[in-house]
Amino acid sequence: MVTAVVGANWGDEGKGKITDMLGEESDIIVRFQGGSNAGHTIVNDYGKFALHILPSGVFYDHTTSIIGNGVALNIPDLFKEIQEIVEQGVPMPKIKVSDRAQIVMPYHILFDQYEEERLAGKSFGSTKSGIAPFYSDKYAKTGIQVSELFDEESLREKVQGICEKKNVLLEHLYHKPALKVDEIMATLAEYRNMVEPYVCDVSAYLYEAGKEGKRILLEGQLGSLKDPDHGIYPMVTSSSTLAGYGAIGAGVPPYEIKRIVTVVKAYSSAVGAGEFVSEIFGEEADELRRRGGDGGEYGATTGRPRRMGWFDAVASRYGCRVQGATEVALTVLDVLGYLDELPVCVGYEIDGKVTKDFPTTSQLKKAKPVYEVLPGWKTDIRGITEYDKLPENCRKYIEFIEKELEVPVKMVSNGPGRHEIIHR
Ligand code: GDP
Repeated sequence: MVTAVVGANWGDEGKGKITDMLGEESDIIVRFQGGSNAGHTIVNDYGKFALHILPSGVFYDHTTSIIGNGVALNIPDLFKEIQEIVEQGVPMPKIKVSDRAQIVMPYHILFDQYEEERLAGKSFGSTKSGIAPFYSDKYAKTGIQVSELFDEESLREKVQGICEKKNVLLEHLYHKPALKVDEIMATLAEYRNMVEPYVCDVSAYLYEAGKEGKRILLEGQLGSLKDPDHGIYPMVTSSSTLAGYGAIGAGVPPYEIKRIVTVVKAYSSAVGAGEFVSEIFGEEADELRRRGGDGGEYGATTGRPRRMGWFDAVASRYGCRVQGATEVALTVLDVLGYLDELPVCVGYEIDGKVTKDFPTTSQLKKAKPVYEVLPGWKTDIRGITEYDKLPENCRKYIEFIEKELEVPVKMVSNGPGRHEIIHR
């Protein structure tokens, strides 16, 4: 049985916390897309962690953590992160890395920086982790797969071809130093030595695990609205953020993904540029940002202040639909306890017409939010463990959102901690 934990919004929904929690009852946790560009913040018995590439289930003795083939594998980042958690007292995790995963190279990171520089004010707000150049190379068939590290001769030939092409761009477009084959080969030899003990035929491993009845958890990065196909293109990420892609990025049969826990945030936040209909500004936004998440809404990787907004039911319902959500985990609800009233965006007005369907980007640019305002509950709901004990207005907010989403809200998260969760 395979469960996926994915986001319905722009990312930062609190998937890390939900994965860490569901990890307790999982055997294997797999990252299936993305790279070390986004972060998951986890608060558990060992302390507070910002993970970027390790699956958020690394904190248990009984779990195996897997980097699937769909991931943009930054090998130094992976090892730095393992070292950091072990230094904080977490037992050495059991890690496997897919032999089909491709490697983020130092030149991907450079190209990301150079391109952002070149675009200047028109940039995509990349985290400059090399993710877009990495996936471009993957689909241009000039990426380097982990398995290729073990055949030096053909690797050198490939690297020569890569340098030939990239050096034209470096010289004429970016006016930057050229790549050198020997330097890249030396880096790759280092990477090979680091990763060798963990290399695994992951889809075969998961196939056997499935036959033994092992519980597999797929952990998504970012959310539906950052999906390159279904999101706010072009202000999206470079790999699919949808549960359906979990089948490909991990290597499991699509029909095995039976439970799709879609994490929805009780208000909106986004990092980087892009359309954001229910965005708020000024003091109102500053206060929500200050109170938001666990110690403020700032990017876990970049430290950038997140853009803030009211709950967007149009975007979130769409986000749940494209994920194929079977249930919703509604997170960071506790943050909203200070508000007298809570606007919820229930429609978009585009060219004078109100729609409840999330449109393509060109239409989205014209959308204005239509709000329905709900009363606040004006109390701190942290520490509450039963749904019925929540204040009435808080339950009304949850039930309103549930009706808009058309998916059952089975979990409500009212604090960053592993056990701060209300099951319904
Ligand atoms: P992810 O990328 O989806 O894993 O989300 P992030 O980790 O980037 O952002 C979520 C932030 O909210 C983190 O700082 C979490 O510790 C925090 N968080 C998660 N759930 C809750 C919650 O229910 N209440 C509060 N106050 N913070 C939460």
